[in-house]
Amino acid sequence: MRRAEQSPLNIAIIGAGATGLAAAWDFARAGHSVSIFEATDRVGGLAAGFKDDNWDWTLEKFYHHWFANDHDILRLADEMGVRDKIIFPRPKTSFWLDGKIVRSEISPSALLLPLPLLATIRMALAGLAIKLSPRWQPFEHVTADSWMRRWMGRQAYETFFKPLLIGKFAHEYDQVPMSFMWARIVKRTLKLGTYQGGFQAFMDELARQLRERGVRICLNAPAQGIGSRNGKPWLKAAGESRQFDRLICTTSPKLLLQLAEGLADTAYGKEVAALKSIGGLCVVFALKHPLLPDDTYWLNLPADTPEKSRSAFPFLALVEHTNYLPRKHYGGDHIIYCGDYVHPGHEYFRLDEEELVERFLPALGKINPAFERSWLRKWWVWRAPYAQPVPRLHHSQRLPAVNTPLPGVYWASMSQVYPWDRGTNYAVEIGRRAAALAMSG
Ligand SMILES: Cc1cc2nc3c(=O)[nH]c(=O)nc-3n(C[C@H](O)[C@H](O)[C@H](O)COP(=O)(O)OP(=O)(O)OC[C@H]3O[C@@H](n4cnc5c(N)ncnc54)[C@H](O)[C@@H]3O)c2cc1C
Repeated sequence: MRRAEQSPLNIAIIGAGATGLAAAWDFARAGHSVSIFEATDRVGGLAAGFKDDNWDWTLEKFYHHWFANDHDILRLADEMGVRDKIIFPRPKTSFWLDGKIVRSEISPSALLLPLPLLATIRMALAGLAIKLSPRWQPFEHVTADSWMRRWMGRQAYETFFKPLLIGKFAHEYDQVPMSFMWARIVKRTLKLGTYQGGFQAFMDELARQLRERGVRICLNAPAQGIGSRNGKPWLKAAGESRQFDRLICTTSPKLLLQLAEGLADTAYGKEVAALKSIGGLCVVFALKHPLLPDDTYWLNLPADTPEKSRSAFPFLALVEHTNYLPRKHYGGDHIIYCGDYVHPGHEYFRLDEEELVERFLPALGKINPAFERSWLRKWWVWRAPYAQPVPRLHHSQRLPAVNTPLPGVYWASMSQVYPWDRGTNYAVEIGRRAAALAMSG
């Protein structure tokens, strides 16, 4: 990266998640002056972690891992000189089908899939066709629901893929384009990566190196307003407005529109307002004994309706983290995530934490009848109202650009990384893209 040729720019970044930190990385390396404003008390955003007293490693509030082809994050780790701290175990992923755990990868147990042989072959061929298809564009004009129903067959779709779509998108599961599924299938790798010490340790190391390069990271410093005057952006924080040369906002669409003076009335603002997203939550249990009998890391649970009251399980994924990473890093605890995505208006966002735990806990006994309440050492509840963008048909034509109509103001968020599913890898990509645009603009 070249150092600033003219006088250094004065840059403001809103949000110290992966997007904001990655943007800061390139600005700082180019010699610009960077201030990051972060609302919470730590860096990391949705990928942030927490640590119990007896743990050596942090644990992500929401389950996180990297795919082996997440090149943007791996490149950043290389540049930071910490690539060797990323490890790639190969954990087991399974489905819960008719009261049994069935491995999802091709393995001898695939022969036990509860599908007729022809249906299994048809599903495998359709999956292969997607995996080998180099372009996502043809898939964005058809819903995943109708494409998979047609080409994979109704039985295979309803058994394996419909629950995944319901899990991610709740009532909008049948509106999502097949391009989303294309990206999921093309990206998925069997090896899943993490940083030694947890994602929080990675974000903290990035923040440490940024500070070393002179970046100011202001924690507990929520931006209260932004705008542009005389061609230059301004930002209000702690009741005080300051002018900058460039400003990158990394928040949700809703927050961008609340913060940015005059943006909602523009054509761009209307595009932003039309973007949809859904919330996410994880209840994390620290148990004294293992839960899943066969070392499964990720267990997809069945759902044929987004109505929780009519579903066999109150959430959509059960993840035994310590079947992925050794429990010695977590004081010997067996760590279980129970995760789901629902709209922020759903009762899961209103219930007391204790009530939510009581809703979720019986599912553990359903999966392992030996489970007893006395196994429970501790629990945590994490909720995020903006957790998963919901793409729609022809989505590429509806995506707001990184440049906003406010001079000097750029927006880089999870909602703009389509066709890829949101992830820290794409946060790094869009953060760096926004920095490059801002430096050239
Ligand atoms: C359940 C779940 C599972 C996931 N699994 C994975 C995974 O396995 N692998 C993976 O790579 N990614 C995963 N992700 C996605 C990943 O966490 C996100 O894509 C990534 O963290 C987004 O980074 P970001 O910086 O764009 O946004 P965020 O992480 O949301 O960061 C935005 C930051 O802005 C701050 N902010 C908000 N308002 C203000 C304000 N007014 N002023 C200042 N700061 C403000 C927030 O506090 C936050 O720190 C998962 C996410 C969820 C919810």
